[in-house]
Amino acid sequence: MSNNTDRIIIFDTTLRDGEQSPGATLNIEEKLTIAKQLARLGVDVIEAGFAFASPGDFGAICKIAEIVGTENGPIICSLARARHDDIKAAAKAIAPAAKGRIHTFLATSDIHLEYKLKKTRSEVLAIAEEMVAYAKTFTNDIEFSPEDAGRSDPEFLYEVLEKVIAAGATTVNIPDTVGYTTPSEFGGLIKGIKENVPNINKAIISVHGHDDLGLAVANFLEAAKNGARQMECTINGIGERAGNAALEELVMALHVRRQYFNPFFGRPVDSEAPLTNIDTHQIYKTSRLVSNLTGMLVQPNKAIVGANAFAHESGIHQDGVLKNKLTYEIMDAQLIGLTENQIVLGKHSGRNAFRSRLKELGYELSDTELNKAFVRFKEVADKKKEISDWDLEAIVNDEIQQAPDLFRLELVQVSCGDRSRPTATVTLRTPAGEELTDAAIGTGPVDAIYKAINRVTNVPNQLIEYSVQSVTAGIDAIGEVTIRLRHEDRVFSGRAANTDIIVASAQAYVNALNRLYGAMQGERQHAQMVGTRE
Ligand SMILES: [Zn+2]
Repeated sequence: MSNNTDRIIIFDTTLRDGEQSPGATLNIEEKLTIAKQLARLGVDVIEAGFAFASPGDFGAICKIAEIVGTENGPIICSLARARHDDIKAAAKAIAPAAKGRIHTFLATSDIHLEYKLKKTRSEVLAIAEEMVAYAKTFTNDIEFSPEDAGRSDPEFLYEVLEKVIAAGATTVNIPDTVGYTTPSEFGGLIKGIKENVPNINKAIISVHGHDDLGLAVANFLEAAKNGARQMECTINGIGERAGNAALEELVMALHVRRQYFNPFFGRPVDSEAPLTNIDTHQIYKTSRLVSNLTGMLVQPNKAIVGANAFAHESGIHQDGVLKNKLTYEIMDAQLIGLTENQIVLGKHSGRNAFRSRLKELGYELSDTELNKAFVRFKEVADKKKEISDWDLEAIVNDEIQQAPDLFRLELVQVSCGDRSRPTATVTLRTPAGEELTDAAIGTGPVDAIYKAINRVTNVPNQLIEYSVQSVTAGIDAIGEVTIRLRHEDRVFSGRAANTDIIVASAQAYVNALNRLYGAMQGERQHAQMVGTRE
């Protein structure tokens, strides 16, 4: 990739920065499913994780590199601190990809140097140079981020960038780590870098930013006007704290307003050529997939992908839209793949119809997964005559999301009503293969179920969020339950769909507990692994 690119390179960090959102933890299968969809969406780079952080992260990057990182697929990237062992782990994880990138970072602001790194400027300069050169021994494609660039002394920042580019960095990423900068300041920062780093033409300027003040997308667009050509973003804007710049907002702003942005890319004003490689028709589907698998719900008024983004409720608007769509709509819902929610299958639909519709929706299941999902489909079709695309997505996501062989819900039964005390009985299969049954009384049926499950599993946790949404309209709709629970300082989410919301509630809770339990086990293993190395 040369620096003279006249478009924006989309670097998706949903699986790395996005996964750092509290409770958004994903397992390897879920990460792979999202990575495949990101490839269909057309992102240029997938930051698949932080290889050194945990064996789970390492394994997920390897698998994505192997399966999604094909010759025509996206570049697969791992994050690494500027340390030998980190960089080595990243190099190993991305090795199976046709195109792999190592993204290493080191803080450059005085406040980080003094309190976090306890190093002088010249020490930091030397480390950055050495580590980029070391990473370069594994792959040509190296990205370097000066952490907290926005609060760094510009002169020192220019010097660091010049040195890392000379050492082989092909992308330099300017992060607004704390989400503090305003658009004109951020544009100015990029402009300063273009003007003051002598070898800047040998690298792509990238931007990374957080939405603490709701300015991430605006900052990026201003950066693009000043020469930034790569944007680090996430689906639905998920990520640490207030999240990252939202991919769908950036892409659609560059698309809808391309006449405004064209001149900044050296193009004629009326050029129709897209400014990114994204297939916008895949946006809505990707948004739903990420929301379903991370348990991070999309607010209804969210730009582009929110449920109300294309709904024109007010009478005046409706009238205008009916007369001419362009009166109140600046873009067509079709453009993001928001098609009518079609009724596609029914009770008599066969396995082939099921498989091919799923394929059209972007899901490729193994034979075992397909069999399991098909059984669920038949169960649902028995209760609900018409099955829409959204129902299908709910069924499949539910099947993919099952954590393997931890606690398994075998039975749930409740008794409730205005004259009785809500009572629940549950049977679970434990990770050891034992079948345990217990019962509890609660303030309501869901509370009773959760108490009974807690009696069996004995994993301490606190329920912090519970929500039910219907996937489609109508009294026979599939209900989707999303819950979040806290264990010590970590949050885990669980999701399940069923025509019976009581069953979905129990399953969502078990799914979240399985993640918690899996993470506790993973940490134990990692502690052992680190222990043997040091
Ligand atoms: Zn970040």
